[in-house]
Parts: sequence; C-alpha cells; structure tokens
Amino acid sequence: MTTCNVCDSTALSGIYESPDNLSITTMNKLIVGKTQVYFCGNCGHLQTSELPNLVEYYAQEYAINLASEDDDQLYKVVNGKPVYRAEHQATVLMSKVKLPARCKVLDYGCAKSPTLRKAMLAHPDIEPFLFDVTDKYIPFWKRFPKMPQWSVHQPNPAWNGTMDVVLSFYALEHVANLREAIGNVKSLLKPGGTFYFLVPNVYENTADFIVADHINHFSASSLRALLQREGFNNIEVDEKAHESAYVVQATLASVVTEDKPASDEIAACREAAIKMADYWKDIVSRIREFEASISEGLVSVYGAGFYGNFIATAMRQPERIQYFVDQNQHLQGIEINGKRIVAPGELPEEVTHLLVGLNPRIAKANIAAISAWHDRALNYFFL
Ligand SMILES: [Zn+2]
Repeated sequence: MTTCNVCDSTALSGIYESPDNLSITTMNKLIVGKTQVYFCGNCGHLQTSELPNLVEYYAQEYAINLASEDDDQLYKVVNGKPVYRAEHQATVLMSKVKLPARCKVLDYGCAKSPTLRKAMLAHPDIEPFLFDVTDKYIPFWKRFPKMPQWSVHQPNPAWNGTMDVVLSFYALEHVANLREAIGNVKSLLKPGGTFYFLVPNVYENTADFIVADHINHFSASSLRALLQREGFNNIEVDEKAHESAYVVQATLASVVTEDKPASDEIAACREAAIKMADYWKDIVSRIREFEASISEGLVSVYGAGFYGNFIATAMRQPERIQYFVDQNQHLQGIEINGKRIVAPGELPEEVTHLLVGLNPRIAKANIAAISAWHDRALNYFFL
C-alpha cells in the first residue's frame, strides 16, 4: 500500500500516470516505468512512486555531473550581469541565517557543496563539515578555502549534537525515507540549531511535476507537517527568495508541537495539483493528435531539453522523429535515441512538421526569431 512519505497517511489519491511505460528524469534521461503521482489529502504532499530503474540512473548521473562545476549554472541575468546559482543560494542563506563566529556548518548530501564554499568567502571563520553518500566529490572538497571535515556513506557519529547549522540543497526531493534523513539531521544539530534547506516548488515550475527522480513534491503545508512532526519549531517556508524553490528554515526544539494542517490550504494544493496533472495529460493527447494528422512528410522535434524529450516520450511513434533541433552549440552533433541534434540551418528540406519542445511561454517568439526558417513552410506544433 502506498503511504505518504511525509505523514504516513494512506489517504493518497492517484492523480497522474505517464503515457506508456516511459518516464523522464531531471537530466532528460528516459527510463522504463510509469511515473505515477499521488496527492496526500492529510498533509498536502505530492509524491511520485519510485521507479526500480532509478538506482541505475543515479549511478550514471553521478558520473556525468562530475564533469561540470555546479556553481557555473546560471540562475538569472540581473541588469545584464549573470548571477550564478551557488552565488544566489549563498546570498540568500547569509541574509536569512545568523552565522556566529566559528560556527559549525554541515552541508548534508553536499555533492560539490558550491553554496557553502561561496558562503565561506564572506564568512572565512565558518567551520565546514561535508557529508555525501559517495566519495566521488572529494577532489572538489579539497579545493575549499579552508580544509573541511568530511564523511561519506554515513555522517561521522562524532559530529552528533555539535552542528550550529545543517544545510541541504535540492536533496530531500529525491529521498523516500524522509524520517531517516530528517532524523540524521536532528542527531547532528545541537539543541536550538538551525536546519536550512531548499527543495523545488512544483507549484511554480510545473515541469517538476512529471520528473521521475523527484519523488517528493513538497507544498508549504507538507513541509511544515514534516518538520513539526520531527520536533522543529520557528518554521519559515519562503516561496519568494529563490525562483521555483522553497527556502526553508527551522529550529530544533526540545518539545514536539504539531498543528493540524489547514484544510483550506490542502484543498488549494489539491486543486493546483489536479490542474497540473490535467495540463500534462492534455499535452500528451494534443501531441498524439498532431502526430496522427501527419500523413505525409517528415517529422522533427525542436528543443533537446526537457520539453523536447517529453514530446518524444509522449509520441506514439517516436521513431518518426528524424532530427532534434537545438540552438545550443554544445548539444549539436550529439544524439537523442539515435537521432542527431542539428542547428536550425542544418534541418533538411524534407522535414515538413516540427513539434516545438519549448516552454510555452517563450516558444512562439523563439521560433519566429530563427532567420534560417523565415522562408520555410514548416507545420508547427506548440505545447
Ligand atoms: Zn501526507
């Protein structure tokens, strides 16, 4: 029986199932198995059932992620200047959490820990502690401004009850056993210590709803339920400080106090979740209708990112795709399921139909700006 990862309730309703037997992950990888999304009527949590093939997926992804620096990821361009993700995360952290002199800060599930590294540039007296389940990031840890203490597989038991702050960035959405993870965080904190973390906000970024490797899609109410039940108070859930994420902090308390989740808040979450489910189900049937309408000519997909890959998983006959088209030069020449990614100007004349896999907000303007296609009579499908 399926139970809620947050509150153990069995009052879960299935609200979405991916088409056929394919699911798509954050890194645009396809894996076998159906993505099934459930809503918890008790705490307002959304969760995706864990696919057996995720283990293999993680093993491969860890290898891929090692090639790049996380702090190179662009968060936003502000007044023409790029702001990188780790930099923004460090700024928000320092604005929200008082870091006393020589405070012990642990990054839990840290990977390369770019945010803590950035925070240390402003607070050189932080004592850094790192924990991850894999030892593959040790070369990155050694490049910290001050040599951190680290532990792999399990947090070092000697650290128990000593941490002023435990950090976690984009980890809890992957964790099925939340009780164990939060229990570990609690053991590490000293009484009155701060747990500070970021998780995606699916209600701000609907693509999060269907990614198979995010098994938890938190809401403000399920985050509060999770933390209260584990004995945290002074809970703050900020939906504005970081785009499409919840920035959460809470204090480890000596007594557990649990408020009953507000029923109107849960009803609003349910409504929003069902809307997202309908949005994705509708997209699938629209893709398939367009596909069925093509009797002659060749088909390609614009966009080698998440939406383009989603179109390919939704099609009844993805083998009809001749090419993926993308303007990112780093992707051109690479293949998706044996189909080459080409630049717009390289798309052969025989291609007559193009399914556009771009965020619907910007898709039409982006396509209109492609000068190589101004004289072509392509039949477009927009999400
Ligand atoms: Zn629940």
